[in-house]
Amino acid sequence: MRAQPQASHFVNGDWMEDEAGAVIEVYSPATGRICAELHEATPAVIDAALASAQAAQRDWARLRPVERGRILRRAADLIREYGDSLAALETLDTGKPIQETRVADWPSGADALEYFAGLAPTVTGETVPLGQDFAYTLREPLGVCVGLGAWNYPSQIACWKAAPALAMGNALVFKPSEVTPLGALQLAEILIEAGLPPGLFNVVQGRGQVGAALVQDPRVAKVSLTGSVPTGRKVYAMAAEGVRHVTMELGGKSPLIVFDDADLESAVGAAMLGNFYSAGQVCSNGTRVFVQSGIKEAFLARLAERSAVIVLGDPMDPDTQMGPLVSAAQHAKVTGYIETAKAEGARLVCGGDAPDLEGWFVAPTVFADVTDDMTIAQEEVFGPVMAVLDFETEDEAVTRANATQFGLAAGVFTRDITRAHRVIAALEAGTCWINAYNLTPVEAPFGGSKLSGVGRENGRAAIEHYSQIKTVYVGMGPVDSPY
Ligand code: NDP
Repeated sequence: MRAQPQASHFVNGDWMEDEAGAVIEVYSPATGRICAELHEATPAVIDAALASAQAAQRDWARLRPVERGRILRRAADLIREYGDSLAALETLDTGKPIQETRVADWPSGADALEYFAGLAPTVTGETVPLGQDFAYTLREPLGVCVGLGAWNYPSQIACWKAAPALAMGNALVFKPSEVTPLGALQLAEILIEAGLPPGLFNVVQGRGQVGAALVQDPRVAKVSLTGSVPTGRKVYAMAAEGVRHVTMELGGKSPLIVFDDADLESAVGAAMLGNFYSAGQVCSNGTRVFVQSGIKEAFLARLAERSAVIVLGDPMDPDTQMGPLVSAAQHAKVTGYIETAKAEGARLVCGGDAPDLEGWFVAPTVFADVTDDMTIAQEEVFGPVMAVLDFETEDEAVTRANATQFGLAAGVFTRDITRAHRVIAALEAGTCWINAYNLTPVEAPFGGSKLSGVGRENGRAAIEHYSQIKTVYVGMGPVDSPY
């Protein structure tokens, strides 16, 4: 199946091509074959995108928030209307099963547009009484924002950045990962159909250097990156040169702690969701599953039983539960981690092999008896590989869970409510779950602490990251000056 878009970029309300840009071959992970060919943005395309964003932003910011919201809500409706074809394109681009992309990827993007559409008109300033004088605050947009996306949730990431940025009166230039560049172009078309004025949401394609050119442009007020820690460090440093606002949504090695008294089926289900959904390519995955010794054997037995029947195959087939990894490079990386885990003495409970399928598949894999010093307990694998570690006491679990430089997410399973809250309070992570895992509704802020990032997406909190406060002091009497 080909999925060639009309052109590589979407700038100022229309498709744009510049064949002088290096070729980007887009592969369908399920077959390993090319499904589209695009060109990287040249300096001329980057300039056109930023110039049109800057030109459009002032008028957009002057609209009443309710008018901006109306357009975003219309875009959410269109996404839902086109749900099946958008899901099919996302599956083609990412390899994720259609049973996921129909319910998770674009639908979550539509939720973000709807949520921030409704929130925008509720954002107000404050008045500050100062005797006879007073001050008031205005919450203003930042201006031109740049979004840089990872390849694992390409369309969701584009929506999660576009929705709060546009709702608050900013313009956004978005660069998707060159591995999964197709969905963001669809969003650009949908926003125009919904009535968004040209220039406010532009998509430019390219690899890291295109991202770097955007981040360093003096017209840019804010950079929001979803990506890895090494890229985050570079982008943060570049943004610091211009003292730009940043949101960094980076990687993780999150702990999921299962106590003896947990509901076994729910804990096993959550561990599977938190390691196997999207073939494990989820930043907040609970990739260190700490299981208390009393429940360990029962947990592993049920986990092996349920993992063995996961259906791998053609991601377009609605019965398929797990698709391939996104790229040959990611496949090589994940299978490399599996071999390292075996060599370092982790016990293979299930999976660990390459299924006999065309495309970049890895079987759902569980390792038990993993120790803190093993590579799979320390590094982000970003594949369907679960590491189960044993623990005895609550204090021990918390200390070991926190012994990482990452701090994106954490989860705890227990029926003891005071313990649940005590443990969560002690865990160093930005996004936590009690008796649940990996649910990220738009109403709740999402983001990491420590090396996993700064800033938050979703929830009211995101508003603060796409706006700034202007303070206005109002003098009501004569000016009292010593001069
Ligand atoms: P990368 O960090 O490799 O890339 C992220 C984006 O930044 C891509 O668009 C990339 O372009 C671009 N980029 C790369 N180098 C530069 C640079 N020097 N200057 C500007 N932009 C640059 O991440 P991946 O795409 O590999 O995604 C996987 C990572 O993302 C994982 O670590 C995962 O944990 C994290 N992630 C975090 C999430 C969160 O919300 N916390 C959610 C999802 C993923 P290109 O790809 O074209 O090189």
